[in-house]
Amino acid sequence: MFSIPHLDLPPMRGASGTVQLPGSKSISNRVLLLAGLAEGTTVVHDLLDSDDTRVMLDALATLGCGLQREGGQVRITGLGGQLKVHEARLFLGNAGTAMRPLTAALAVLAATQGGCFDLTGVPRMHERPIGDLVDALRPLGCSIEDLGQPGYPPLRLSGRAGGRLATAQPIRVRGDVSSQFLTALLLALPLVTGPGPAVIEVEGELISKPYIEITLNLLARFGIAVQREGWSRFTLPQGSRYATPGQIHVEGDASTASYFIALGAIAAHGGAPVRIEGLGTDSIQGDIRFVEAARAMGAVVGGGPGWLEVRRGRWPLQGITLDCNHIPDAAMTLAVMALYADSPTRLTGIASWRVKETDRIAAMAAELRKVGADVTEGADFIEVRPPAAWRPAVIRTYDDHRMAMCLSLAAFNPLAGAAPGCALRILEPHCVAKTFPDYFEALFDLASADPALVPVITIDGPTASGKGTLAAAVAARLGYHLLDSGALYRATGVAALWDGVAPDDEDGLARIAALLDLRFDGERIHLRGRDITDALRLETSGAMASRISSFPRVREALHGLQLAFRRVPGLVADGRDMGTVVFTDAPLKVFLTASAAERAERRYKQLISKGNKTTIDALRQDIEARDERDRSRVVAPLKPAEGALLLDNSHLTIEESVAQVLAWWEQRRSFDRGTVPLDKG
Ligand code: C5P
Repeated sequence: MFSIPHLDLPPMRGASGTVQLPGSKSISNRVLLLAGLAEGTTVVHDLLDSDDTRVMLDALATLGCGLQREGGQVRITGLGGQLKVHEARLFLGNAGTAMRPLTAALAVLAATQGGCFDLTGVPRMHERPIGDLVDALRPLGCSIEDLGQPGYPPLRLSGRAGGRLATAQPIRVRGDVSSQFLTALLLALPLVTGPGPAVIEVEGELISKPYIEITLNLLARFGIAVQREGWSRFTLPQGSRYATPGQIHVEGDASTASYFIALGAIAAHGGAPVRIEGLGTDSIQGDIRFVEAARAMGAVVGGGPGWLEVRRGRWPLQGITLDCNHIPDAAMTLAVMALYADSPTRLTGIASWRVKETDRIAAMAAELRKVGADVTEGADFIEVRPPAAWRPAVIRTYDDHRMAMCLSLAAFNPLAGAAPGCALRILEPHCVAKTFPDYFEALFDLASADPALVPVITIDGPTASGKGTLAAAVAARLGYHLLDSGALYRATGVAALWDGVAPDDEDGLARIAALLDLRFDGERIHLRGRDITDALRLETSGAMASRISSFPRVREALHGLQLAFRRVPGLVADGRDMGTVVFTDAPLKVFLTASAAERAERRYKQLISKGNKTTIDALRQDIEARDERDRSRVVAPLKPAEGALLLDNSHLTIEESVAQVLAWWEQRRSFDRGTVPLDKG
């Protein structure tokens, strides 16, 4: 997950492969609440792990529900409708799917069993309306106090034990602002249907009906059979009781699927499709109907139970006019697909966008304009005309996961004729954690780019100059891949030792290098399936690498392997010849220098702290010998690349060195005019 201030996406041109979708947010939080209120234990499989589900889990724990995680499952022992904790303050972040149903449930529980609960969230949560739900609950006899602005969280829900609710009259709720108010009542009222049924009447046209279908479907799984008359009257039968289904699976999130469906429609051309697992044509989520809209724009979508496959069909895509009331969240993705169409796209029935994580109509219009689109917005519609000329842009995400995920798709602009393509900067990319913490990793697994447009920073320098540490820190800050090229030479040496190949057998060593079965797994490195991370760091491995790296055929054999690390979104590569030989077109080349004495001292401290016995003099001699070998060898001798910036870090902390490299990098990026100068050294 990227907890970095911004993430730069290079222009991309293709996508294929499989994505495993995270669980549905809407289903996850409904299931959690139902399991938390039911009697007995519910085992939830494939629960979404995200900000919004975390606040719900925290709330349930605070209320005294039993929670246990076992691998990918969560076991929840519910309250059986009886409060265990009567006073609590619950922080619900920006999760509407937690705030609304918990307000309803705790309001009726406090009113009948006694208690006092404060429900709060982030500042944006305090701007998201809840007044219509409060107005529906108060006539029932619930005591709800506005702790801030009336009609908005934070709220205090209180009451005395033995209180009775006026459920004999129908409960009236507005349906045209957020369907979550009705969902909240439907989920909560089974708690108070002891003496008689509870009837809910919806005022106004109910929006987002598919989300109500999810609610009814899940209530049925928990033993509550709601009777419905059209979309205006819902009856919860007398004596309703939540009964745990025992086990329940959460299907993949259909709104999240929309980004990958769009990805396939835009970028799966020529080769394999984009395959989506965890969600299929049998989905109970309304946003599955995004598939029809994507097809209307040109996507070719196939599927079955639990899977979908998408490829490009019509190209360019075709603009559509669509009332999106039935797919409010996924509809955002259509606004971005519109960039790739040859006619305008008009999305209507989206007034609810204005009260979501941000004002999504305004946000979408502003960001699409930045990349070059011509956008018209109204109270409840947006119209997008594709860019005549694409522009590199800095995209704001408004702490809205869907803005970040949608706009990332604008980076496929080379497919719409942007030449060579426009990079995008996504600000605060970590906001995707609301529903898909690993969204960008998943996108990068599928996406491909012209390697020449994938940015590379090379960091070369002599032994023990701190390149590895610097490169890893810079890569982490940029969200880029990392290539420790020395590890390839070291691993070749280790493999040679295993296979009994002599250190002077150039052909034998080259054969080993060409077939090197090396896997980088986070911090760990595996050779032929064995973890060799620690063995690689030994001085003997370094010395062996230094020897064998002077053979031209060994270097050649490793060349292709190193190039393969150049993948979206970018690469930081460290070694001796990253700038001079392997990535000669890298837009930033850094050459580290530090005196042999300084480097010997650093290495000495490192080794001593690990309990190794050595002397500074011996280390210095070894370092000087290695410098000499690296510098004087015929192929790829160690020297600064042309245009490399020299960084003498003898007297710099790691943070200072990182800041310097990032500052140089920033000077080479431009999002305001023309295309990003990726080819300038
Ligand atoms: O950087 P590290 O110390 O891990 O590299 C081990 C050895 O591999 C170096 O001493 C150097 O001789 C060789 N090497 C190289 N070219 C690279 C990286 C490392 O020749 N790009």
